[in-house]
Amino acid sequence: MTIPGLMMQQPLLISSLLVHAERHHAEQEIVSRRVEGDIHRETFRELAARSRRLANALAALGVKQGDRVATIAWNGYRHMELYYAVSGSGAVLHTLNPRLHPDQVVYIADHAEDSVLFFDLTFLPLVEAFASRVKTIKKFVVMTDRAHMPKESKVPGLLCYEELIDAASDAYVWPSFDENAASSLCYTSGTTGHPKGVLYSHRSTILHTYAVALPDTLNCSARDAILPVVPMFHVNAWGLPYAACMVGAKLVFPGPALDGKSLHELLESEKVTVSAGVPTVWQGLLAYMDASKLKFSTMRRTVIGGSACPPAMIRAFKEAYNVDVLHAWGMTETSPLGTACAFKPKHLGQSQEEHYAVMAKQGRGLYGIDMKIVGEDGAELPWGGEKSGELLVRGPWVVNRYFKDEGGNPLLTDADGHGWFPTGDVARIDTDGYMQITDRSKDVIKSGGEWIGSIDLENIAMAHPAVAMAACIAAHHPKWDERPLLVVVKKPGAEVTRDELIAFFDGKIAKWWTPDDVVFVDAIQLGATGKMLKNRLRDQFKDYKLPTA
Ligand code: AMP
Repeated sequence: MTIPGLMMQQPLLISSLLVHAERHHAEQEIVSRRVEGDIHRETFRELAARSRRLANALAALGVKQGDRVATIAWNGYRHMELYYAVSGSGAVLHTLNPRLHPDQVVYIADHAEDSVLFFDLTFLPLVEAFASRVKTIKKFVVMTDRAHMPKESKVPGLLCYEELIDAASDAYVWPSFDENAASSLCYTSGTTGHPKGVLYSHRSTILHTYAVALPDTLNCSARDAILPVVPMFHVNAWGLPYAACMVGAKLVFPGPALDGKSLHELLESEKVTVSAGVPTVWQGLLAYMDASKLKFSTMRRTVIGGSACPPAMIRAFKEAYNVDVLHAWGMTETSPLGTACAFKPKHLGQSQEEHYAVMAKQGRGLYGIDMKIVGEDGAELPWGGEKSGELLVRGPWVVNRYFKDEGGNPLLTDADGHGWFPTGDVARIDTDGYMQITDRSKDVIKSGGEWIGSIDLENIAMAHPAVAMAACIAAHHPKWDERPLLVVVKKPGAEVTRDELIAFFDGKIAKWWTPDDVVFVDAIQLGATGKMLKNRLRDQFKDYKLPTA
């Protein structure tokens, strides 16, 4: 029989991160490019005081514990204040994705039953497009000062953020409550069915934050300046707004300016050491730096995830800019971090080429994330094998049920009674435990009953100097059922033919994996979180006749 331990029972609450940051890192800075156009600076001391004022202001607006408070905002200090004031007071921060269609925003806001909406000035037209249709949002707050408030708006009674802060006292004691209470809410960018809400808790957030900050994960320290390009409206910016307070790192927020020039300026002027974002953002930055012959003076690491990081990008960062890419995998349902690709001691003496091969993988499971791959019959597949299978995960920051039980129980139960979350990703795991995503299960190409991993093919195509973007989709084939079709966007001014691209795959992959054909398009549409919309491409090319058919 176990006996109880005799340690303090202190709930793991998000407000404790802010209290810690104010006490131990009061002078550390949060630097933001504002939508108003200028650069704004505040310290963690100011962040803490303004968050307390905001907590009082929320109470004055009638927000109670458990209420959902929505935001539509870029990465910036006011959004950060909302992260702490809303969750810290016991309400739930619901970050809405502004890249969604107004109809989707209405569905999600109604489903979440949001009571107040805070938004950046930039999003006034979007808010005006849906404000009269949302059922539960009664108060709309523009995240700006009086001078920048819209002179007129279709939304009646707009409130001003800075006025709310000014009118509130900074005397506020963060309440204590159960660490399992809900803290924030994020809807999945699922391409089928309705969006589903993932409701994080204080406990899951704090445990995830510890994992994010570890040396083999994002390796955050008080000596770092972190610029999250990944939006605060997408899975809490991968936990960086929390991790920065936990370790006392400087935070640099790019606001709405995500083009290569603006990002490079801010990375340099604020001496950023670490950054994080999806591959498509880095493409813009690298293209700009290449064209303008620029370098980084302080940035040494960047975290890339959200979709597979092409090996050519890992190589470009290292060879042209001496920046190490940390490839990571995760999803809304996993808070998001699940794996990160740091080396083991056995890799240290290896060649750069061998390093690149490791870095292209999505990495090892973090402590707290248990993972396995299963075949179509649900049986676990061995690590180190040739075969890919569906990736299942479990852990204290993995979703258990969706908000309001949307879609029913998502988990699969194993023989020991443990629930596993089926990620919908197809992956291999090598003998060292490095996981590599080969596909989304719905994107996989099934040729003659065998799977072809579209990500492997895209990675090879992306290494061709003329290719800006590549997607590989299944096209119908009378004999093999499906065969790979490569859809390519060329770099401006670059030339490459179909045959040259097909030949580019020679020796890099099993012969039968080679795409049967290549089509060139002007653009590939990206979804709200920067991923290629392959279902759109499949629709577009559903009647495509392969030359091999
Ligand atoms: P979301 O919930 O919108 O963050 O999307 C999660 C999905 O993004 C995962 O299930 C993967 O399909 C994909 N994803 C995230 N990170 C990676 C990565 N490093 N490589 C490949 N796919 C990724």
